[in-house]
Formats: sequence, C-alpha cells, structure tokens
Amino acid sequence: MINLLELDRDALAATCEQLGEKRFRATQLFRWIHQRGAHDFGQMTDLAKSLRDKLADRAVVSVMPLISEQASSDGTIKWLFDVGAGNAVETVFIPETDRGTLCVSSQAGCAVGCRFCSTGHQGFSRNLTTGEIVAQLWFAEHHLRKRLNLPEGQRAISNVVMMGMGEPLQNYAALVPALRMMLDDHGYGLSRRRVTVSTSGVVPMIDRLREDCPVALAVSLHAPNDVLRDELVPLNRKYPLAELLASCRQYLVKAPRDFITFEYCMLDGVNDSDRHAHELLALVAASGVSCKFNLIPFNPFPESGLKRSEDARITSFLRVLQDGGLVATVRRTRGDDIDAACGQLAGEVQDRTNAKVRMTRAPVRLVRMETNA
Ligand code: SAH
Ligand code: SF4
Repeated sequence: MINLLELDRDALAATCEQLGEKRFRATQLFRWIHQRGAHDFGQMTDLAKSLRDKLADRAVVSVMPLISEQASSDGTIKWLFDVGAGNAVETVFIPETDRGTLCVSSQAGCAVGCRFCSTGHQGFSRNLTTGEIVAQLWFAEHHLRKRLNLPEGQRAISNVVMMGMGEPLQNYAALVPALRMMLDDHGYGLSRRRVTVSTSGVVPMIDRLREDCPVALAVSLHAPNDVLRDELVPLNRKYPLAELLASCRQYLVKAPRDFITFEYCMLDGVNDSDRHAHELLALVAASGVSCKFNLIPFNPFPESGLKRSEDARITSFLRVLQDGGLVATVRRTRGDDIDAACGQLAGEVQDRTNAKVRMTRAPVRLVRMETNA
C-alpha cells in the first residue's frame, strides 16, 4: 500500500500513469486529498469508478497515530504523533489574530545537539519521510477547519515554520517535496514567504535550497563569534560563521523575502551581554547580509543547566541591536503551559547517537561573561 501523502503532484502523476490513467487525474486527486482533506476514495465522485477502485486496492491516505493533544490557555495546540519504533514527534499550532502558524517537525530527534535544545539532548533516531512531514499539515489543517468551524474555503493555517523537532536541512531529500506540496496551488497554496525553513546552518544545503526551492529562511545564530558558537551549536565547527554568512548572502539573491531571519536564543550569562550585542552588530555589518533579529528568551528544561536571560537584560540587548540600526524583536513565548515553546519539543526519541553520554562527557565549556556591561 502506498501512502499518497508521500507524493508531490509530479510523483502522483507518475503513479496515475502506472495505473494506466491520464496524468491530469493526479491534479484532481491531489486537490481532493490536500485541499479537501479526503481520505476515502469513494468520496471522490468526479474520478472514474475504475480509478477509485484501483486506488482503494493499492493506496491509502494515512496519518501517523495520534498519541496526544494538548491545548494551551493561549490557544496554542500541541499534537504528539507516533512514528513507530518508540519514536514520537510533535507539531504545534500557534493562532494569532492575523494568521495561523504551524510548527512542523522534520526528524525524530536531532543529531546537531545544540546545548540549549531539548530535542538536541534527546539525540537522533531517524529522518521523517515526506509523507510524515506533510501529514502534520494535512492533519492539522483539516482537523482545525472542523474544530474552529471555518466557513467552506477558509484555511486554518496560513504559515508553516520548519521549527519543530529536527534539523530540516539534514533531511533534505524528504523536505523539498514536502515544501513543494505546501506551495502547490492545488495543495496548500502557501506563498514562499509564508513557508520558513529554520536551520542551525547546514551551509551546502542552504545553497541547494536556494536553487531547488527558495522559501523564507531563518538561521539559528545564537552567538557572535566562532568560539562561543562552536560550544552552543556544534555544527559550527564544520560550517563556521564566515561560511554561513556568505551562504546567507547568496541565498538572498533567490529568496522570496529581502532579509534572513536570525534567531538568537537568550541564555543568561552566556551570550546575552551588551558586548555580545555589539559584536553581533559588527559581525552582521561586515557580512553584508540584510537581516532581522528574533531574540528568543530561552525556554528552560531540566537537563540543560542553563537559565533564561532576565527581561531587563533582553531589553538592553535588544536596544543595542536597534540602536545599531538592526530590525530586532523579542519572540513572545507561546504555549508555555504545555511545553510547546521553542526548544521544548522532546517527543519520544529512541536515540542512536548516544547524545546523553556525549553531552555529559563534554560539559559546556562556556566562557561566561563577568559583567553585562
Ligand atoms: N533545527 C532547526 C529548527 C528547529 S529549532 C534550528 O535549529 O534552527 C527552532 C528554533 O528554536 C531554533 O532557532 C532553535 O535554536 C530554537 N531553540 C532551541 N531550543 C530552544 C530553547 N530551549 N529555548 C528557546 N529557543 C530554542
Ligand atoms: Fe537540532 Fe535545531 Fe535543536 Fe539544534 S536547535 S539540536 S539543530 S533542533
């Protein structure tokens, strides 16, 4: 049985051909599945009965089993999906007045192992398939339309951010068809500006994404120099800041937006002094990357041993960036009461990478700043 959520429109057309059908049937089928949320081929009444029968024999439209759903007092909803072999991934819906954002996972766990990230501490199990990435959107969109009682034709989800569990650019082959399905006018019809890939900085894959499927890009910076970034985001040892920023500048040539979003997680006494902010200004100015900064107050979890920066510290850091001419905002924490905030998505990961051992053997060698001045 083939799960049709795995197939973008080209792949679906090829499948239709194999079944002895015309390629254009794939568009009808694709619309039934993604625009209308149909999973029962019997419902698809404008398809020939013969095709419906063939599909019923060979294909399904199927989502991973849902383990749990938690709703926050602020409207945020978090779902936990079973992806088999003891692994589970999380998806988060974040409603705002003018949009509905879905935060989607790309891997069960993550191999990058950032110090401040709960997913990183869990280690890595496996990549999600295209269908498992798309299923999160398919499920959320069609579930929410019913739940929120939306009028026919109105969408629940206007934005997708690949900011759930995992490093999307370390699952490139599955990611790109999933992005294409999100952008497809016969699918979710999201504009490139409203689909964001967030990465810890997999430089060669940023370069490929620019050519294959340029969508909005967010880069997790977290430090103004290589010494500190090596500690916080271990991938920096492979792709240091100079290479990362050069790749960001190139990305802008094809990007749907004229800036890169830099995410910066505010860690008390680690990367949050005014000196760090000044260093960041200099770094960005020298790189020539047009950008916006998004400061994320650290969301603590027990094993991290790290603390969130004080509000006053965040404000001061923000002001240095703004006074230096950068556009910078502080990300409002959502879904705090259900552990749905950035970096808190832990799911359930059967670690194959010994992350726990690695992380305790190599305690954080952070150069802590003496003063915040
Ligand atoms: N792997 C990708 C996307 C997933 S993480 C990436 O790293 O960009 C989404 C964002 O949440 C990243 O900017 C990440 O650095 C940030 N984040 C991770 N752990 C966090 C935590 N505990 N508190 C606040 N932000 C965190
Ligand atoms: Fe992986 Fe992103 Fe977490 Fe780093 S912050 S461990 S790259 S999910």
